[in-house]
Amino acid sequence: MQVPDIIIAIDGYSSTGKSSFAKIIANEFGFLYLDSGALYRGVTLFAIENGYIDEACTIDVPALTEAMENLDIHFGKGGTYIGERCIEDEIRSLEVAGKVSPIATVAQVRDFVDRKLREFGRMKRVVMDGRDIGTTVFPDAELKLFMTADPMIRAQRRADEMIAKGDQVDVEEVLKNLQERDYIDSHREASPLTQAEDALVLDNSHMTMEDQVEWIKNIIKERFGC
Ligand code: C5P
Repeated sequence: MQVPDIIIAIDGYSSTGKSSFAKIIANEFGFLYLDSGALYRGVTLFAIENGYIDEACTIDVPALTEAMENLDIHFGKGGTYIGERCIEDEIRSLEVAGKVSPIATVAQVRDFVDRKLREFGRMKRVVMDGRDIGTTVFPDAELKLFMTADPMIRAQRRADEMIAKGDQVDVEEVLKNLQERDYIDSHREASPLTQAEDALVLDNSHMTMEDQVEWIKNIIKERFGC
C-alpha cells in the first residue's frame, strides 16, 4: 500500500496496545516508528538512578532540569539508549512504570521530550504513539487515532507480556498501576491525555491485530485515496 507522506499520531490509555499496533503499521507502510513513552521512561530511569525522585515520588525538579541538559537519550538498535547504554529492559520494569507518570507531569520534562519528538517528525512518514501526540506534539498530524480498551483486558495483556519475559506478576497489581497512570495522565496540568477532536477512536477490546490493521488500511484508503 502506497501511503503518502503523513504523520500518524496514536494516543490513548496505558496498555491499549498502541506500540505493538504502531510498530506493525510502521513496518507495513515503510514509516519510522517512534515510541514517545520510552523517552519518558528513559528520563524516569535516569531520575531514579541519580536520586532526582525518591520512593514517595517527590521529584527534585531543579536538579533534574539541570541534569537533562546533558542527557543523551535516543533510539538505536534494539530500542532506547542513554549514551552507549541500551536501557530497553530497565525502562519496562514495574519500578519505572510506577514513577513515570509523576515524572511526565513535570513541564520541563515534557518540553525536553517534545523537542526530541518534533525533530523526528520533520521528516514525515512517522508513526508516533503516546498521550499527547495528536493534541500537543503534532496537532497538525494528518491522521490521529485514540486507542482504548477494557481495563481488565489491558491489564491481562500487559501481565502476559511481562510473564513471557520471565517476570513474576500479579495481574491485580498491573491493573492498579495502569489505572493510576491513566488517572495521573488524564488529570495533569501539562498536556493531559485527551482525545483530539479530530481523532478516530479505536476500541480494540475485542479486535485482533489483523482486524486493527485492516481497519486502519480502510481508513487510509478512504481518506487519502490510495
Ligand atoms: O506509552 P507508555 O506506557 O510507555 O508511557 C509511559 C508513561 O509516559 C505514560 O503512562 C505517561 O505518563 C507518559 N507519557 C506521556 N506522554 C506521552 C507518552 C507517554 O505523558 N506522549
